[in-house]
Amino acid sequence: VVEYRDVRKQYGNFTALDGVSARVNRGEVLCLIGPSGSGKSTLLRTTNALEVIDGGQLYFDGHPLPSSKAEIRKVRQRMGMVFQSFELFPHKTVLENITIGPLTVLGISEAEANARARVLLEKVGLTDKADRYPANLSGGQQQRVAIARALAMEPEVMLFDEPTSALDPETIGEVLNVMKRLADEGMTMVVVTHEMSFARRVADWVVVFDHGKIVEQGPPAQIFDAPREDRTRNFLSHLG
Ligand code: ATP
Ligand code: MG
Repeated sequence: VVEYRDVRKQYGNFTALDGVSARVNRGEVLCLIGPSGSGKSTLLRTTNALEVIDGGQLYFDGHPLPSSKAEIRKVRQRMGMVFQSFELFPHKTVLENITIGPLTVLGISEAEANARARVLLEKVGLTDKADRYPANLSGGQQQRVAIARALAMEPEVMLFDEPTSALDPETIGEVLNVMKRLADEGMTMVVVTHEMSFARRVADWVVVFDHGKIVEQGPPAQIFDAPREDRTRNFLSHLG
């Protein structure tokens, strides 16, 4: 569904992505791992044109990513994104946070939006929190609302940038479980993560970054059990 071909990204003189090629097929999970500053978030953000690439090509659904603002907006609508910080609307309830996108962008009725939101709340295990405000939820619960909000737009691909990095350890698992279930249901996902056990269990394909380049890519069994590159081994052995 998404293909990165020799993608380059410069920030001034600094090369953030130096010829990155990878792909994720429909229904698969691609995990991006690697040290801090290696370019994982940059690549993720090129996927929906939050970062414009300086070289190479990016294909979504077989088509090059468009350059006009209107076309980019359409592509963005087809991709859900979940960040480290949840960025929920603080003055809206959980239910309103989930329905606002469908109501304003998809133009569906309020009854339909509410009904869909309740299905999604059930999916992320928060049916009883519909009328709460974000500030009254734990980090893990807020992140699950953020996932439900992204899903409410019925995306074809979900992009996650370290969705559990800002969470208390005791709430990380509940978010990873929701993501695992989403993957099991066949959602196409690109996930930047430091959770190696998640990558090992859920990824179909793992890409290891260092200094804007891909060190190694392959199925989790290769990357975690039989890495071919010293730098992969090094990175994995220096994790907590
Ligand atoms: P982390 O694990 O810390 O999130 P990362 O692998 O996601 O790291 P990126 O955020 O992709 O790393 O950043 C790659 C490099 O590009 C870093 O050295 C970063 O400082 C640099 N960079 C990112 N965004 C910008 C920007 N807007 N302007 C200049 N440099 C940037
Ligand atoms: Mg990052």
